[in-house]
Amino acid sequence: MKFIGAHVSASGGVDKAPLNAMEIGANAFALFVKNQRRWTAKPLTDEEISGFKDSCRAGGFLPQYILPHDSYLINLGHPSKEDLLKSREAFIDEMKRCQQLGLVMLNFHPGSHLKLIPESISIQIVAESINIALQSTSGITAVIENTAGQGSNLGYSFEHLAEMIDKVDDKSRIGVCLDTCHLFGAGYDIRTEESYTNTFTAFDRIIGFKYLRAMHLNDSKKPLGSRVDRHDSLSRGEIGLEPFRLIIQDARFDNIPLILETPNEEIWSEEIKLLRSF
Ligand SMILES: [Zn+2]
Ligand SMILES: [Zn+2]
Repeated sequence: MKFIGAHVSASGGVDKAPLNAMEIGANAFALFVKNQRRWTAKPLTDEEISGFKDSCRAGGFLPQYILPHDSYLINLGHPSKEDLLKSREAFIDEMKRCQQLGLVMLNFHPGSHLKLIPESISIQIVAESINIALQSTSGITAVIENTAGQGSNLGYSFEHLAEMIDKVDDKSRIGVCLDTCHLFGAGYDIRTEESYTNTFTAFDRIIGFKYLRAMHLNDSKKPLGSRVDRHDSLSRGEIGLEPFRLIIQDARFDNIPLILETPNEEIWSEEIKLLRSF
């Protein structure tokens, strides 16, 4: 079965997110568990936690189909000790929030070397950060997202993600989220049946479908290999609809959250309907 939703707003409280997801006909959703543009937030109250769980129950959303996303400020591969520590603390705080909300995953972008250290060293730092976070928490799987490779972002190649996973001690709590716009920006073509097959065969060989915990379904405003991360609504960008039809018909993407991060939230319910029609 396919679980399709969008990254919905949690403004006004985390309990609003499942309600927003229900409104667009989703059976999965993503959310921020705190303000994504700030370093700190006050702790979740018991009311917020029980409110969130009640809304999830009302909408029939199980934790494995809910994909929290961490703050954009966090850089788990940061070259400077002090900034790295700040990122690690913030990441652990987010994992603990997920734990409190009864969730099972936390989706994050791996990090950036900021052109100050080699990629391979920064990848090593990311893996150490994940190990520390997993040791400090329980029940939450760290879900690394592939990137378009904009600026000095790590994680644009399957090899990067595989290297991080390889260095993580607890393999039962590490996973991957593939973003179609980021794949395309990084140079992985998926537009035709042949290129789709080649890309996901490579993914399976280098990382393995057993690590795939979620997908972000976005079209791209920028061409193949642009290394730029600009999402577009389905069928409006450079990717086109074909790969989304293939994903929906592909059993390897069953039973994981398939999340829209497309720019026009007014048409999310139509986009979900379109995907279901495949
Ligand atoms: Zn994404
Ligand atoms: Zn993106």
